[in-house]
Amino acid sequence: MNISELARQLKTEPQLLLEKLPELGIHIGEKAIQIDENVVPKAISAWKQYQRRETLKQKLAAKRAKLEEKKNGNDQKKMVVSIPEAITVADFAKKLDMPVSKVMVKLLQEGVMAAMNQKIEYDTAMIVAEDFGIKTRLEKKEETEEAENKTIEQTLSKESELENRPPVVVVMGHVDHGKTTLLDSIRKTNVAGSEAGAITQHIGAYQVTVTEPAEYSGRKITFIDTPGHEAFRGMRSRGGKVADIAVLVIAADDKIQPQTLESIEIIQNENLPMIVAVNKIDRSEANIDVIKTQLSEINLTPEDWGGDVICVPLSAKKGQNINDLLENILLVADIENFRSNPKGALFGTIIESNIDKGLGPIATAVVQNGTLKIGDLVACGDTGGRIKSLQDFTGATIREAPPSTPVMVLGLKSVPKVGDIVERVESLKEIKKSAKKYRMDVQPEKDSLKKRVKEKEEEKKIPQLKIFLKTDVVGTLEALLGEIKKLKHKDVEVAVIKQGLGPFSENDVIEAEAQGAHLIAFKVATTTGAGHLISARSIPYNTYTVIYKLLDDLKAQLESLIPPEIIEEDIGKAKVAALFGKSERAMIIGGRVIDGKVTKNAKFRIFRNGEVLGEGMIIDLQCNRESKEEVKAPQEFGIKYKGDYDIRQDDELQFYTTREEKQKL
Ligand code: GDP
Repeated sequence: MNISELARQLKTEPQLLLEKLPELGIHIGEKAIQIDENVVPKAISAWKQYQRRETLKQKLAAKRAKLEEKKNGNDQKKMVVSIPEAITVADFAKKLDMPVSKVMVKLLQEGVMAAMNQKIEYDTAMIVAEDFGIKTRLEKKEETEEAENKTIEQTLSKESELENRPPVVVVMGHVDHGKTTLLDSIRKTNVAGSEAGAITQHIGAYQVTVTEPAEYSGRKITFIDTPGHEAFRGMRSRGGKVADIAVLVIAADDKIQPQTLESIEIIQNENLPMIVAVNKIDRSEANIDVIKTQLSEINLTPEDWGGDVICVPLSAKKGQNINDLLENILLVADIENFRSNPKGALFGTIIESNIDKGLGPIATAVVQNGTLKIGDLVACGDTGGRIKSLQDFTGATIREAPPSTPVMVLGLKSVPKVGDIVERVESLKEIKKSAKKYRMDVQPEKDSLKKRVKEKEEEKKIPQLKIFLKTDVVGTLEALLGEIKKLKHKDVEVAVIKQGLGPFSENDVIEAEAQGAHLIAFKVATTTGAGHLISARSIPYNTYTVIYKLLDDLKAQLESLIPPEIIEEDIGKAKVAALFGKSERAMIIGGRVIDGKVTKNAKFRIFRNGEVLGEGMIIDLQCNRESKEEVKAPQEFGIKYKGDYDIRQDDELQFYTTREEKQKL
């Protein structure tokens, strides 16, 4: 075919084709006029792919600029102001960048009367600042502002030392849509043979090396692969984002589900670039267009439908189009240009941690900046220590972990929390200082007195389902705690009395019995002694391996505790005609049903001149001197009743029955 003809078909210039095709792996010679017919389909496909990428690059660049703008706005809103232990109202207003009068009014609303030059305490300042939506931190004398405000960005700002790093990807989506299968499939097909065989452990993240297409060959991608990844909220770093890109899995034989929406919300709140993996396309029920339509309906129009959301149809189970997904991840990574400084200050985030009987505390970190090395002294949350050993995701010992590397760390003094930041320090003293600061920072935020009193009052009233929760790893524990918090109802609540890692001990069981708590184990068992105690004393104990099964059971148990709602149903009205006798406990009256009916199991309210006087219960119901189950209007009846009020002639009786209705969460 003639080159100009091909260019016309592809709506481009022949010169551009001649320039670009060799870059796309189609070699036809710089000055060729003709192109071999056999090569034409390949050239068309390569060109379309190229065009697609170019358009996508433009769209993503525009989107990135927009997100950047939004982020800057948010950063300003989320500004943290440091306040000393005591500050004058005038200085405080200056710090908040607000008129003094406005601050004084707010102080008054909180019950604090203070003049401009009077000092207020940090706690008061914090509450007032929060009313304005501004976060505060306690300024310490020895700390300089500079040290206080050290951020990852500042560390990263040495332009000349910045290097590209592999993107860190998190996979999210509704249960059963195929997240685990996708992560397995990527791991199986993209971890080099010898390494794949060598994988002996699961550390919560792994790294693959891409082989196709040629232009991406050798590039790495880190995948976060923790049991708690459904509940990403718990996984979020306390200092920044762990993941750079989110892959949202939606099954093409299903539809967008509540957890899909929840994942989207998290991804958007985190400002993460998103790629949608439309999974299970091998299934006959699969309908990619249904998913794309649904995505468009929520303003996430796929790029091939004119929007900017990348959708990759694939089958995790059959390994189909996985390379396409990886290519798109790297494409987004190139556009986002994730960089960090391997020589710079060390920042890593803990993504999983647990205690090993032999090895002690074990944690997996993803390094974000700098290089973590054996022998490093690190602070991490409220713990720290000297790094004794580093292992990569295959279990191989490594000496150092550069940015984006998931690495298992040994040497911490105790188990850190998921989301804690790992930082290099110079001395043990610094670890202690950092741990102390951490404890202060993560202290529950102080609420206004009124709110706290109200919460306390509510706490007292509500029946609780008490549980002891133990899991295998911190990631799961945090994820579960996050989900359990959502099981809410005004009349009942779950109270997690105790939580932890590893098997239940005898002490746990004794404590649970004393407190009336249920033992709930996720992927852990009990010690032998504890097992005996549980069966001997019939303590409620359940084990789980699936998060949603555990949550479903908790929900059911909680629902069984909700007091049923009593539903009243009016069944009829009657007028009292005569009174026949009265004893201390019961009275006999005669009357006529004027509307509906009266039944033997009914209750009634007594009305006189339109006002309710009291209530009664029927002991016996008669009609024509025979006991009856029900008497309908307009018949006459006689009832023997028990109640709290003397009935008189001409009183009106309103009959009703009650039934209990179970309430749901
Ligand atoms: P998760 O809960 O999102 O982690 O989902 P899983 O990966 O556990 O997958 C749920 C079910 O869907 C399993 O039975 C998988 O075998 C199946 N599944 C996952 N991906 C595919 C796919 O691409 N095709 C088909 N046919 N089944 C799949």
